[in-house]
Amino acid sequence: MVAAEFSVSSRWHALASRVLAGHALTREECQSVLECPDVEVLDLLAATFRVRREHFGLKVHFYLLKNAKSGLCPEDCHYCSQSVISEADIDKYVISNERVLMEGARRAKDLNSRTYCIVASGRGPSDREVDHVCGVVKKIKDELGLHICVCLGFLKPEQAKRLADAGVDRVNHNLNTSREFYEKICTTHTYQDRVDTLNVVRNAGMELCSGLIVGMGEQQSDIIDVIMDLKGMNVASIPVNFLHAVDGTPLQRKHDLDPRYCLKVLCLLRLAHPAVEIRIAGGRELNLRSMQAMGLYAANSLFVSDYLTTKGQSPELDFEMIKDLGFEIIVDDHQHSPTEAPASAELAQAGSCGSGSCGSPTCGTHA
Ligand code: SF4
Repeated sequence: MVAAEFSVSSRWHALASRVLAGHALTREECQSVLECPDVEVLDLLAATFRVRREHFGLKVHFYLLKNAKSGLCPEDCHYCSQSVISEADIDKYVISNERVLMEGARRAKDLNSRTYCIVASGRGPSDREVDHVCGVVKKIKDELGLHICVCLGFLKPEQAKRLADAGVDRVNHNLNTSREFYEKICTTHTYQDRVDTLNVVRNAGMELCSGLIVGMGEQQSDIIDVIMDLKGMNVASIPVNFLHAVDGTPLQRKHDLDPRYCLKVLCLLRLAHPAVEIRIAGGRELNLRSMQAMGLYAANSLFVSDYLTTKGQSPELDFEMIKDLGFEIIVDDHQHSPTEAPASAELAQAGSCGSGSCGSPTCGTHA
């Protein structure tokens, strides 16, 4: 009995050791992680934590989302509350002015966020919207020096260049799911459209943030496909969304995930992308529930506060969770930030992100 238990544990530790030695996961190994028996999840997590520790220690990066433009999108992403086919009851507004975006940036700073994410719904930005975002980003860089990620939809090369010149560090554009499954969740654009935009961003010299949404009715092979595709794209950050099915969207009745499966997905992401930032993104609270903290033994990043059109748990609870884990929030990789919660006055403002999300967890989208 004891020997059998040891061999279970050593199976996952052997896999982690191979990863630490530079081995790239095969599809079969990816499948085995997703099919890990529930009773072995702790063993899998412990082995995965060795990989996380090797590359990120006990560090956690916080991201704060700002929904700069909500709803009014002509695309039909089935998971998204901001889509033209969504009947979700969300706020709809055009792109936020400089004052609102700067308030969000100051809040990101107050909450010890490493990155401020400016997200706008829509197929892609107009040139005027790009100019507006560029102006705000320059101001944020001058005044606050925050790391900036934008999520604006499909970008033309000249738009990407302008964003890079303005100081945007990173662009988020999620692949969301596999090439094969893509047409089941969206018919107004293709997987290849998304790949093309990632290439435009890379060519403009900005970092790539691209992730997935789990729980939309995909097969495990779809999750493995997208994880493998991301492997070839040199992404800096992978947000892992767990579907938060919003009423009024085509996926409103999808509630297929359990927390243990979510943990297996996070372990797979860490083992397949050992040195890449893995973020537990939208749907964290809803799907991981009491196991949220355990997710950080695989992932090294979180969205703090609200998502785009859905609420997250309070920043106080996130700070408490990190502290209880004995992990530390890092604002940038050269400077430590204490894992203490900011002053309560700052947290009081913190609840007012005022945004919604793209229906999906983070925005799944686009974001
Ligand atoms: S995910 Fe983005 S592109 Fe798709 S419907 Fe939502 S806002 Fe539009």
